[in-house]
Amino acid sequence: MVNISNPLINILQAKILCSIIGEKREADLPMPAYVVRDLCAGCGACAHVCPYKAITVAAKLATVDPGLCRECEECIFICPNGAITAA
Ligand code: SF4
Ligand code: SF4
Repeated sequence: MVNISNPLINILQAKILCSIIGEKREADLPMPAYVVRDLCAGCGACAHVCPYKAITVAAKLATVDPGLCRECEECIFICPNGAITAA
């Protein structure tokens, strides 16, 4: 059997492996909360409970800012209409 020991091949293999692991970690990240428009009554309970002030309510509809949401799920538990989901 031929033993191939080439540093360039080792570096390439390591880079490919890191790329695969990096993509998997990104895909594993939880999703920000999301409001189902048809279920939201605009009561404001979610905005009140959100510790990161990621939710605003306007015209009887809650909206989550995905840039501020930390996926703590407080809003999901407090919503009386089940209008918020994490997926
Ligand atoms: S708690 Fe639920 S019903 Fe109330 S504003 Fe938030 S998403 Fe809408
Ligand atoms: S999951 Fe937590 S951080 Fe995100 S909007 Fe709901 S209460 Fe705010």
